[in-house]
Amino acid sequence: MGSPSDQYDVVTVGAGVAGCEAALEAVKRNSRVLLLEEHPQVGSPSHCSGVVSLKGLELLGLEAHSSFSQKLIHGARFYPPHGEPIEVRKKDPVALILNRMKLDQFLAKQAVAAGAELRAKTRASKFERTSDSDLLTLTDGSKVAGKVVIDASGAGSRLPEQAGLHSPDWAQILPGLQYELVDMKEQGDLVELFFGSKRAPGFFAWGIPTGKNSARVGLASKKGNVKKFLDDLVKEQWPKATIDATKSGSVLVAGPISRCWSPGFIVVGDAAGQVKQTTGGGIVIGGYCGKLAGTAAASAAAHGGVESEGFLRDYDTQWREKFSSDLRKMGLARKLFAGLSDETLDRLFSVLRDNVSEIEAEGDMDFQGKIITRMLKKRKIATLLPRVAADAVKAIFS
Ligand SMILES: Cc1cc2nc3c(=O)[nH]c(=O)nc-3n(C[C@H](O)[C@H](O)[C@H](O)COP(=O)(O)OP(=O)(O)OC[C@H]3O[C@@H](n4cnc5c(N)ncnc54)[C@H](O)[C@@H]3O)c2cc1C
Repeated sequence: MGSPSDQYDVVTVGAGVAGCEAALEAVKRNSRVLLLEEHPQVGSPSHCSGVVSLKGLELLGLEAHSSFSQKLIHGARFYPPHGEPIEVRKKDPVALILNRMKLDQFLAKQAVAAGAELRAKTRASKFERTSDSDLLTLTDGSKVAGKVVIDASGAGSRLPEQAGLHSPDWAQILPGLQYELVDMKEQGDLVELFFGSKRAPGFFAWGIPTGKNSARVGLASKKGNVKKFLDDLVKEQWPKATIDATKSGSVLVAGPISRCWSPGFIVVGDAAGQVKQTTGGGIVIGGYCGKLAGTAAASAAAHGGVESEGFLRDYDTQWREKFSSDLRKMGLARKLFAGLSDETLDRLFSVLRDNVSEIEAEGDMDFQGKIITRMLKKRKIATLLPRVAADAVKAIFS
């Protein structure tokens, strides 16, 4: 291994929301922190739609800063496969649409201002453990050492396996595509969500206002040609709009891994499967878990030895206490939902239509467990269960 200048208390792989939050918390606790980012520019390319609840933003200790904020949102309009849409609207704004590249850059700047060293254009390709530190091999063949490595490198990471952990089920990544649309008719203050086998089989499509006459529209799906689905939707819903930019991205709907630490190693964010399985959303959970991970890594690095393992284990306990009950319920809802036929979806939405005021009052974008449990207890939903089971069996064999 090289010079002491390549030795850090904490090395964070990936300058996304989870990695930046982790680096910031660790450096605030006097750790010497290196933040690695494989791309030349933090946040780019961005695949994300940038929908974040205002409560979630608060949980991250953030405000709607002008550098990354695009639009405030009051609710959502759901389009079932057939029939009229259903609107769920709150009087006050519930969500912020943000420019994800700018958010990541905002967070990375905070980490650097607090003392973290950011190395862009630097990919960590291999993790190994030695008797006194962890080593990461970089793509130029050089190595950096850390007392603790935090893997925040997003969906598809192989570092957890090299550290002796499981990875999320990467087969459960849905291909997605997004367009930035401009020259549109005036956009409202609702996110639009479109369901059905002709629109986005097994998932959904979205239209997210980003400005007065612009929107980010996209979809992910279990099967079929995502480009054709998206082009059809644009033609149907926004025929006069111009496509300003195209981005592809993969939506992760796997659940979290069973253990997120091993000696000298923590995994966080998408790399750990810390996403809402109903939507693939991971900004809030990943960011919050990043904070916990950075705090734990700094304590572990300061103590060393067996004692350090207690801090890493605590990270795993703490994030699960906060999120795992809701994630379990979202995982169940996702499993039930993914195989539904259009007819069952229509019936499901008609039950939701009858319960809009309850959803408006009790729904929470990040902690969806409560509303999922309440809806599953509805008698009309219970009567749908035999259909849901039949659809699930059909989906397995289709
Ligand atoms: C189409 C789409 C729309 C989405 N919309 C939303 C949404 O509206 N709201 C929401 O909450 N979530 C959304 N998500 C999910 C959200 O983007 C992720 O959950 C979130 O980005 C996870 O953050 P992260 O920090 O764990 O990983 P990432 O944001 O993926 O960051 C990982 C970083 O690590 C870098 N990296 C990767 N490998 C290495 C390596 N080996 N060495 C160095 N650097 C590396 C990457 O370049 C990247 O910068 C969406 C996802 C997709 C695909």
